[in-house]
Amino acid sequence: MIDFHVHIGKIFYGRKPLTPKKLIKRMNEKGIEKAVILPIENPEETHWYNTSENVLKICKKYRERLIPFCNVDPRRGLNNENEKFIKNLIEEYAESGAKGFGEILANLPFNDKRMKNIYKICGELKLPIVFHLGGVPGNSTIGLTDEIGLPFIEEVLSEFPNTIFVAHGPGWWAEISGNVTPEERNTYPKGKIEKEGKVQYLLQNYSNIYADLSAGSAYNALTRDPEYGIEFLNKFYDKLLFATDYLYPEQELPIIDYLKNINLNEEKKKKIFYENAKKLLNI
Ligand SMILES: [Zn+2]
Repeated sequence: MIDFHVHIGKIFYGRKPLTPKKLIKRMNEKGIEKAVILPIENPEETHWYNTSENVLKICKKYRERLIPFCNVDPRRGLNNENEKFIKNLIEEYAESGAKGFGEILANLPFNDKRMKNIYKICGELKLPIVFHLGGVPGNSTIGLTDEIGLPFIEEVLSEFPNTIFVAHGPGWWAEISGNVTPEERNTYPKGKIEKEGKVQYLLQNYSNIYADLSAGSAYNALTRDPEYGIEFLNKFYDKLLFATDYLYPEQELPIIDYLKNINLNEEKKKKIFYENAKKLLNI
């Protein structure tokens, strides 16, 4: 199994840090062979940063198990097409072993110009991007923002067809329902999926978008309507990545048993547990 979404180190005030040793112990217990480690470089969500430099250094020590991503805050420097600073930085990280970019937690519209510059660079360097989608613009929220129906994401997917995106976060998963409201967009809505949403539309119509199954948001989306959850996995197994968003030692990870025990054929499970990840990470 490859876990596509993990953070390490000191991130949240009042929580014990997840050290590489503790992470690997848990991976061994759960049968997870490799984990993608996502640096945190945006100021909005967590209480401490975990820089790309640090993640690259730690992953080098555990290269058989930990796969580093890199991250740059889009507001650093001037971040426009004429300035090469951001490109040079991401390029250097890729040369040092980074296999992707993210997690993006900047509280900016998904189609912000500075974000687009990063999407373009990552497409050129073939680095898949993990992003966190929060609420609608203007609401108090963390992560990237988009209107109901995800028009900014769709605009970006068609403008950057060579950039691979991996979606995550409550704002994304609430859109599994076509009846989502602005108030519930950054929450964990309950109840049956009466009408399919923009998540299914984008996964079906754009080859450059995937989704990771990490955190309470994906678990809620799959279990709010258990029958539909299985239908969803059956339909989109080649666009979904097993992931946990593991970030503090005692955290429960219900997605692991959910996926292990679910009635889905083994070929599809393999895709979700590691084959899709291997393809995106080119390993
Ligand atoms: Zn995360």
